[in-house]
Amino acid sequence: MSRKISIFGATGSIGQNTLDLIKRAPEAYDVVALTGGHNIAQLAADAIAVDADVAVTAYETRLPDLREALAGSGVEAAAGPEALTEAATRPADWVMSAIVGAAGLEPGLKALEQGATLALANKESMVCAGPLMLATAQTRDATILPVDSEHSALFQALNGEPRDAVEKVIITASGGAFRDWPLQDLAKATPEQAATHPNWSMGTRITIDSASMFNKALELIEAKELFGFTPDQIETCVHPESLIHALVAFRDGGMMAHMGVPDMRHAIGYALHYPQRQDLPVKTLDLLEIGQLNFRKACETRYPALRLARQVMQAGGLHGAVFNAAKEVALDAFLAKRIGFLDMAAVVERVLDRVSATNGLNADEIGLDTVLWADHTARVAAKEDIEQTR
Ligand code: NDP
Repeated sequence: MSRKISIFGATGSIGQNTLDLIKRAPEAYDVVALTGGHNIAQLAADAIAVDADVAVTAYETRLPDLREALAGSGVEAAAGPEALTEAATRPADWVMSAIVGAAGLEPGLKALEQGATLALANKESMVCAGPLMLATAQTRDATILPVDSEHSALFQALNGEPRDAVEKVIITASGGAFRDWPLQDLAKATPEQAATHPNWSMGTRITIDSASMFNKALELIEAKELFGFTPDQIETCVHPESLIHALVAFRDGGMMAHMGVPDMRHAIGYALHYPQRQDLPVKTLDLLEIGQLNFRKACETRYPALRLARQVMQAGGLHGAVFNAAKEVALDAFLAKRIGFLDMAAVVERVLDRVSATNGLNADEIGLDTVLWADHTARVAAKEDIEQTR
């Protein structure tokens, strides 16, 4: 019997890699919903190719284009945030959460509410609302499977191991586009320069977040929320080859490292077939060709986002939602060349200080309303901050 699946963020890098796997075994899947944003041509072509029930664009103004592209195909067209969440309520066994940013939170939650297995690429959901995501999964008997390569690696290395046997976990970082740049040049770095990743092929936003290490900062927080480790148990280091994705250090001195070529189809395929392992179109590493692996300390002067992530992990509550929202606004401003590369961390730090000083962010109970309030408050504060400091 074929499995019902939906892909949120189907037109993006993760979405396209997911579709690559699905299209190799079309008889195994019954595609319910594909969603995208501005890339209507890709969304429509894929929805027709996999015979999806519905294709949804996040933007209402793009509905006429989507309708036109789907005309005569039998695929339903829908648009807007409500249509996205409605698509997530349609029964599915497996849902890929690969929208970029906090916009991925509500569809992911809806998918959990209907008891689906959620393949979670959208790290922002865990950063903004980790306790809510986990509680929803628990009460609805749903499953969250990490897709971020580092978190999939941890999930695999931790499989069957007692949690109290873990001393610490280490998630690696490529160091991004500027890892070897002199520090004094970083202030002048452009979005075009930041958008080239040394090892991975990913969406523009996450690639720039890799250069600033905001991506790694989000991943540290995601690891804390997903696996329940204390902030002191979660470390990162620069590993320029991006071949070891994460390591678990056990109290008995043993370490388990997860290795693989930088190809997201491994982590996506692992989540798709879990708990089985199936053949995937992913190369096996040739250790002799690699020869050596390198590791360096991740310097918080070069990557201030890491220092801020530690603060957020220690503070908990709604600080993750504030951190992520301020980062998204700062990234938009950097992409629009309104602020410089180093200004992004400065904006986020000021917003964290300002919002936590004026409002209580330490709520134990995190509900969707409070997360959305923190997200909105931080976005307003970040926009004001950018206006005032330009
Ligand atoms: P992309 O930018 O390539 O794709 C993002 C997807 O989200 C696209 O389908 C895009 O539509 C859609 N989208 C953008 N904005 C909105 C919005 N406001 N509402 C609804 N949909 C929207 O991102 P990636 O695939 O690189 O990343 C997706 C998620 O996966 C991120 O959270 C990222 O951190 C995470 N991730 C990505 C990895 C990678 O290798 N790329 C690795 C690990 C995690 P459109 O393009 O049509 O406008």
